[in-house]
Amino acid sequence: MGLCILHVASECAPFAKVGGLGDVVHALPIATAALGHDVRVLLPRYDWIDTRDLRKHARPLGIPLGEGQGEVWCAVYEKHIRNVTYYFLEHDAFYARGYVYDPKSGFTSDNLLRFGTLCRAAFQIARSQHFMPDIFHAHDWPCALLPVMLNTTESEVFGGSASVLTIHNLAHQPRFPLWDLLNLDVPASEFRGDSLESEGAVHPLKGGLYHATKLTTVSPTYAREIRTPAGGVGLDPVLDFRGADFVGILNGIDAHEWNPETDPYLPTHFSARDLAGKAKCKRALLREVGLGEMGLSGPSGKAKNKTPLVAMVSRLNEQKGMDVMLAAMPELLKLDAQWVVLGAGDSELEQGLRNLAEQFPDQLRVHIGFDEGLAHRIEAGADVFLMPSRYEPCGLNQMYSQRYGTLPIVRATGGLVDTVTQCDLENSSDNKAGTGFLFNDLTPEALVNTVGWALEIWRKQPETWRRMQQAAMSRNFDWSVSAKEYVRVYEWALAAKRG
Ligand code: ADP
Repeated sequence: MGLCILHVASECAPFAKVGGLGDVVHALPIATAALGHDVRVLLPRYDWIDTRDLRKHARPLGIPLGEGQGEVWCAVYEKHIRNVTYYFLEHDAFYARGYVYDPKSGFTSDNLLRFGTLCRAAFQIARSQHFMPDIFHAHDWPCALLPVMLNTTESEVFGGSASVLTIHNLAHQPRFPLWDLLNLDVPASEFRGDSLESEGAVHPLKGGLYHATKLTTVSPTYAREIRTPAGGVGLDPVLDFRGADFVGILNGIDAHEWNPETDPYLPTHFSARDLAGKAKCKRALLREVGLGEMGLSGPSGKAKNKTPLVAMVSRLNEQKGMDVMLAAMPELLKLDAQWVVLGAGDSELEQGLRNLAEQFPDQLRVHIGFDEGLAHRIEAGADVFLMPSRYEPCGLNQMYSQRYGTLPIVRATGGLVDTVTQCDLENSSDNKAGTGFLFNDLTPEALVNTVGWALEIWRKQPETWRRMQQAAMSRNFDWSVSAKEYVRVYEWALAAKRG
């Protein structure tokens, strides 16, 4: 019999997406529903989510606050897509602010109340819908209070339900005052070192790590890294303590949305068997971003593709190694390649990239902002995709790029290690040529050397390049593989809870 699973998250594409978390909460429910499970997702009704094609529940939902403080009243909307039911929790004072976590400049102090209310709403929705989840699946710190609530105030009614907490990025660890916890009706007794307390403040993620029935993160290598002091961002002792209940499951990609044979964002399509469309995508992309087709047309008029195009689509911050990339850029631009960067993030990095693009208009184009369509066209049109991440829980873009025949150059960390196979020229004649390029040291020199190595192969060994493209494009990153592993974790969690 299928399981009943309720995901609770702050992001879920296409409704709300800040990063990879939004992609996972979009794709995993669809993939597990396809396996025959009853899967539902609860997320806030942010103000940009149009209610016109959502069904409003007749009754508002009352969410109890701390003792003597009454209830928060919320509207609930519902939508059913690809066998998944979505619940949207509407409370304008919390979710109608034009942002998910924090405004572009500034800081929100009531995020524990905003997302803690969402966690509490999960139980109220289950009650109002007469839906008893086998699994409450909470995502990252915003929903980390859910396992604590399940084990405390909600344990009587939901004692047969298990919780799974997935860490998408351990670095996000905000702290809050004790008062917020009491406002959410979490018992003050949980404010202790082996639960929610850390240095005198409430640390929701830490509490969730102690309380969840099982813990997962988004790649096996990241799961190992965050159990060490070097990668644990202070939580390695907790993760090590919970080590027997903790696994890494690689994220998949939505192979339906990221498919070069059907992608509606692309001007033309292609496949591993026929890459002609990829060259057209490259030409169209160069035109779109306003880069001259340097070396693309030979004197005969026949298209000749002489200059490699290197791309990045990323949040612009230190996690993504963008500071090192910027420092390396003067040397990288000497490598006879063209570059296109799409991203948004730290204003200093944005400005640094803009300045470089002004200096090198024929070689570098920088688009600051978030643009889903352009991200797809870049993945399709580029030759090489760069991800010099300082750390990377899983990373999605390196998987998208492999599927689009754009070979990734990545730092050997986290999920990048688990998803990219190093170029191996000695085996290039068979299928073991690799699918990309990995480097270890996050230094401008290592970056320049590795990009230089990849471009050399692109230029001088087109046969090897094509074999690598074909190997990359035929890798199966489909969610259906990872979804089965999640179901095994759900069953494992239930066995732990119910015996
Ligand atoms: P993270 O979640 O750490 O940002 P991931 O690689 O896991 O990194 O996921 C990033 C997701 O966000 C990918 O789907 C990527 O295409 C997308 N993305 C990042 N920046 C942009 C942008 N500026 N425009 C469009 N999509 C972006």
